[in-house]
Amino acid sequence: MLNIAFIAHDRKKDEIVNFVIAYEHVFTPHNLYSTGTTGTRIMEQTSLSIHRFMSGPLGGDQQIGALVAQNEMDLIVFLRDPLMAQPHEPDIIALLRLCDVQGIPVATNIATAEVLVKAVERGDFAWRELVHKYKPGASE
Ligand code: PGA
Repeated sequence: MLNIAFIAHDRKKDEIVNFVIAYEHVFTPHNLYSTGTTGTRIMEQTSLSIHRFMSGPLGGDQQIGALVAQNEMDLIVFLRDPLMAQPHEPDIIALLRLCDVQGIPVATNIATAEVLVKAVERGDFAWRELVHKYKPGASE
């Protein structure tokens, strides 16, 4: 089971909702996380259960980043708005930096998200299960 996070800026929320609806069957078996409003929007239109963190501007990106820092997050779909300045830009950069530190797949636009979700469907993320299994402190 993978830990997958969804984040979308306001003008990208319809896009992420439509994306998750289209691939709901792929996401269903996994542990799902999101920033506050993104998660609410997705749950309103799917039957998925999502652990919602704070809204992005209030620290949600940082909360997801904490899981990335611990190498616990396996995939992030983060649909950013490239045409609108965000008050929490430093948090966004910090989250993406941590993904690069840990080598976590992160999609910042829908085209990349499509490729990654198909990889999840195909089982290409099996290596992440190994990361969890052999992490220091893991039960096995
Ligand atoms: P939100 O946060 O899901 O609470 O809107 C995302 C963001 O805008 O950074």
